[in-house]
Amino acid sequence: MDPKLLEIVTREVVRQLDLQSSSGSFSGSTEPAQGCSAQGCSAQGCSAQGCSAQGCSAQGCSTTVACSTTPDLGAFKIGISNRHLHLSRDHMDTLFGPGSRLTVLKELIQPGQFAAVETVTAVGPKGCLKGLRVVGPLRDQTQIEIAQTDAIGLGIQAPIRVSGDLAGSAPCVLVGPRGSVLLDEGVIVAKRHVHLEPDRALRLGLKDRAQVKVAFDGDRGGLLDQFVVRIGSGHFSEIHLDTDEANALGVRNLQEVRILK
Ligand SMILES: [Zn+2]
Repeated sequence: MDPKLLEIVTREVVRQLDLQSSSGSFSGSTEPAQGCSAQGCSAQGCSAQGCSAQGCSAQGCSTTVACSTTPDLGAFKIGISNRHLHLSRDHMDTLFGPGSRLTVLKELIQPGQFAAVETVTAVGPKGCLKGLRVVGPLRDQTQIEIAQTDAIGLGIQAPIRVSGDLAGSAPCVLVGPRGSVLLDEGVIVAKRHVHLEPDRALRLGLKDRAQVKVAFDGDRGGLLDQFVVRIGSGHFSEIHLDTDEANALGVRNLQEVRILK
């Protein structure tokens, strides 16, 4: 075998093995644990990070022995939001045909949310965004979430807003396979935020709409403030920022970061 090809194949195999072993640690494996590496844990037989229990509740831990470590409440995973839009029933009818339904392409981490197969084109005075993906399910009001870079390309001034706060936001035209709509408002740059489950918010002492800082590691890492806390019983704890912010910080999806009050 050609030595270069052998090297490429070897690297790929190693990469795949690394992926398998790291995905195993996130998958809640119920293999019996051998010893405990959790900081401050005094139990034998527990290997889960953040183990807190007798009958440990940490993901991936199957031990039933007592453990004194409390979960690391400050650690969160990053979810990078690519540009997308949410559609109202009326606009879905216009763009994709009366009574049309969204088709699930991929379930998102936030419960009930999904990326749809359906896409539209957004048009502004200076340009257009093709393949803008619809995120379902349908909502009361159409909302387009783009990065600042996208807004410059479209030639519009999209305000930085919390989801749902659309009064006076930017206009655009949406074009679908069956029709188009002129939106007087609805385009925003989503304000960076933290989704929190109520019990975790309580333990962290955080209230809905509070603002926190997030520390990012890496070569372009740094400290960003003004993350809005959003608490809801249907939320999965996760930090959301957009592609401009993620690229500026050199972070990747699912990277673990810490929030600071
Ligand atoms: Zn979010």
